[in-house]
Amino acid sequence: MNAGLRDTFGRLHDNLRVSITDRCNIRCFYCMPERDAAFVERREILSYEEIERFVRIAVGMGISKVRVTGGEPLVRKDVPELVRKLAAIDGIEDLALTTNGILLPQLAEPLYQAGLRRLNVHLDTLDGERFARITRRDDLEPVLEGLALAKRLGFAPIKINAVAVKDLSEPDLVPLAHYGRENGFEIRFIEFMPLDAQGLWDRGRVLIADQIIETLSREIGPLEEIPDRDPRAPATQYRYADGGGTIGFIASVSRPFCRNCNRIRLTADGKLRYCLFAIEETDVKSLLRGGAPDDEIAARIRSTVLAKWEGHEINTARFVAPPRPMYAIGG
Ligand code: SAM
Ligand code: SF4
Repeated sequence: MNAGLRDTFGRLHDNLRVSITDRCNIRCFYCMPERDAAFVERREILSYEEIERFVRIAVGMGISKVRVTGGEPLVRKDVPELVRKLAAIDGIEDLALTTNGILLPQLAEPLYQAGLRRLNVHLDTLDGERFARITRRDDLEPVLEGLALAKRLGFAPIKINAVAVKDLSEPDLVPLAHYGRENGFEIRFIEFMPLDAQGLWDRGRVLIADQIIETLSREIGPLEEIPDRDPRAPATQYRYADGGGTIGFIASVSRPFCRNCNRIRLTADGKLRYCLFAIEETDVKSLLRGGAPDDEIAARIRSTVLAKWEGHEINTARFVAPPRPMYAIGG
C-alpha cells in the first residue's frame, strides 16, 4: 500500500500543479513585466511525453489531483493532446486547467472532447477599459465568449479567479459577484501576492478577504462561511445566505493556509517546487532526459516533499520573494 507523499510536518501531498509554458498572450501587471519578458528556451521546456511520464510516477506515489497551468497553458500547441494523455492516467481523480480564457472560444470544445471537465478562468473585471489596464491587452470579449461556451459545453465546475488589488479592484467586486451568481460560476478572489515581475507588490496593495466579504455582504447579501469545506483546499468558501451560490477567497496573505498545504509544482522547464514561494527547486528534467529509471525520479519527488518548509513568511521581516515571478513558476 502506497503511504503517500507526507512531509516532515505531517502534511499529505496529493495535488500537483504542472506548468506547461511560461509564455502568455497578455501581460497582467501583477505577474509579468510589461515588455521584454524573459522566457525559457523552447528546448528547455518539458515535452508532453516527459510531462506524462512524470505525472504517472507522481500519481503512483499518491498524487490524485492534477492541474495544468502556466504561463498561459492554451498558448502551447496541441494542449488537448496533453489533456488526453493525462485524462487516461489511472488514479487521477481530479484533472483541471487554469487559463486566462482568451483562447477558449477555439479550444473549449477540443479540451472537453479530450476529457477535461474542470476549468478555472482568470478574470479580474467585466469592464473592457479596466481589463486593458490590468492585462495591457484588449482581450475581454473572447474571455467572456469562452466562458459562455464552456458553460454551454457542460464544463463543471467553472471557477473564476480574480486577483484583488487595493485601490484598483474595488469597483469590480460587486459586478463580478453578480456575474458569478447569474452564471453559476464560483468567483474566487485571490489576494495580491508578492510574485510580480516588476517589484510592484507591497502590503498596502493587498485587498484583504475580510474587506471583500464586508463589501459583498453589504452590497449583495449576507455571506456565511461553509463549515464542512475541504480543509486542504486553498480557498475559504462562503455561500450566500439566500442560496445564490458560493464564493471563495484565496487569502494567502491575510489567512495563510500553509498548515494544510497539499501541493507540489512542476515548472515548465522541469523543476520541482514544494511551494509557490520556495527559493530552492529540484531539477527533474535532467533525470527525465538522462535515462533515469522511474525509481530515481520517485526518490527525487519524495526528497523534495521531505525538504518542504513549514510555510511562506510573507508576513514576517524574513520574507524573501522567490527568484522567479508567477508566470515562470506556474500559478
Ligand atoms: N495564465 C493562466 C491564468 O492567468 O489563469 C494560468 C497561470 S496564472 C499565473 C494563475 C493564477 O495566478 C491566475 O489566476 C492569476 O490570477 C494568479 N496570479 C498571478 N499573479 C498573481 C499575484 N501576484 N498574486 C496573486 N495571484 C496572482
Ligand atoms: Fe498571463 Fe496568467 Fe500571468 Fe496574466 S496571470 S500574465 S494571464 S500567466
